[in-house]
Amino acid sequence: MLVSQGVDAALAGVFGLLIGSFLNVVIYRLPKMLERQWVSDCAGLDGSEPGAVEPFNLMVPHSRCQQCGHVIRWYENVPLLSYLMLRGRCSACSTPIGLRYPLVELVTGLLFAWCVWRMPGQWAALAWCGFSAALLALALIDWDTTLLPDDITLPLLWAGLLASMLGFTGVALNTAVVGAVAGYLSLWSVYWLFKLATGKEGMGYGDFKLFAAFGAWFGWQALVPIVLMASVIGVVVGLALKFNNGLREGGYVPFGPFLAGAGFTAMFFGADAILRVVGLG
Ligand SMILES: [Zn+2]
Repeated sequence: MLVSQGVDAALAGVFGLLIGSFLNVVIYRLPKMLERQWVSDCAGLDGSEPGAVEPFNLMVPHSRCQQCGHVIRWYENVPLLSYLMLRGRCSACSTPIGLRYPLVELVTGLLFAWCVWRMPGQWAALAWCGFSAALLALALIDWDTTLLPDDITLPLLWAGLLASMLGFTGVALNTAVVGAVAGYLSLWSVYWLFKLATGKEGMGYGDFKLFAAFGAWFGWQALVPIVLMASVIGVVVGLALKFNNGLREGGYVPFGPFLAGAGFTAMFFGADAILRVVGLG
């Protein structure tokens, strides 16, 4: 039992490496695809025909070195191994490749292995692998661009309700539905109170949708622990950035990555454990 469980987890880990490689593409390209969409929509608003643009999506064009334009060959795109074999440099111009690429692959592999190890032989493991992949992509896209794209948050929300219905999450369907509604409305209310009180925007609508998705995956009871945990992570990271002068212009730090961190904590340890950590349980 333990051996086959380990083999399954290892296979899931390898599969996760491949998905992680795909996530790197999503994280890099999805915001650019959305931006191109907006630009072309805006071009259409004044009645002019949007000009023809080169296709740009998750499949096309091939990945290139951003420095020299060298097209990345398939054998240069094997998760982790290629990075190690190329010693972290472009084979054509020797420009260093970001350490983030292999890290995303490695983390995705570990997350998938963990899910399958914890839920051996269950479809639920697959559902939580999907949850992990979506959450990792969202965290990094938000960190880079302060956007949480609907293309990921909304499917994550629907998937959470479906997973609840199929019994994958151990959350009753009505608890998940109430969780989704409460998740959205609670942050929406905080957003408007904060905006009316200070005239500033502390969050974006993407945060509400991500929190709604957490309500669907974990049930409404988990919402308070998750938002507390996200705030704790946010304060710690915010202070660390401040002391290292790592804050970007305007001092704005997106909330999504901290929500995602809290979501992973809830997945690993359960929402109850979070309450104990923050001293309320
Ligand atoms: Zn290059």
